[in-house]
Amino acid sequence: MATSTSTSRTSDFFREVVAECPVDPRLEACLQCGTCGGSCPSGPDMDHTPRTLFAMIAAGMRDAVLRSNTPWYCVSCYYCMERCPQEIRITDVMYTLKRMAIKAGYSAQTTAPKGPGFAQTFVDHVENYGRSFELGLITRYYLNHRPLDALKMAPLGMGLLKRRRLDLSPRPIRQIEQLKAILDKAREIDAAHAV
Ligand code: SF4
Ligand code: SF4
Repeated sequence: MATSTSTSRTSDFFREVVAECPVDPRLEACLQCGTCGGSCPSGPDMDHTPRTLFAMIAAGMRDAVLRSNTPWYCVSCYYCMERCPQEIRITDVMYTLKRMAIKAGYSAQTTAPKGPGFAQTFVDHVENYGRSFELGLITRYYLNHRPLDALKMAPLGMGLLKRRRLDLSPRPIRQIEQLKAILDKAREIDAAHAV
């Protein structure tokens, strides 16, 4: 069962990340065991493993964390969360860091040149279906960046499908038209504020 560790790892940046995360990420409970990085299909492309990134957050390394390519290469497969002994919301932290990097103007400086474009695919899925479509994201990632490794990932994909962590096709939310209308309105407001 997951437990919390007592910790003094509470830099300002650590608290900022926790506050920005829409759910309690449980970051203070990280044991630095490395299971997440060892499970991550994008690990070879990341400049820091998720474990290292969490240590850097704890150490208050704001600049280095927000410049890191790690969140941009996260394909939201949730495999790390399945395996984390401390039930840390790793994928949610990755989303949070991407949002913080964009907000702080770091996304253009990331060492993942295709990362923001990759994230745009995620945004496109949300706009078209109202939710993420992880299988589409992962497929796009491997076809674009590591086509030769695609077959090696098949067992992982099958396991995630079996656990119902992946859908075979996008499932639009109900009343997607309402979401699209909201997004259109938001763009309109944004454009009005930009002039
Ligand atoms: S698997 Fe969980 S506890 Fe282990 S390093 Fe990753 S986030 Fe921390
Ligand atoms: S959710 Fe992201 S960080 Fe976790 S294993 Fe998948 S790609 Fe790696």
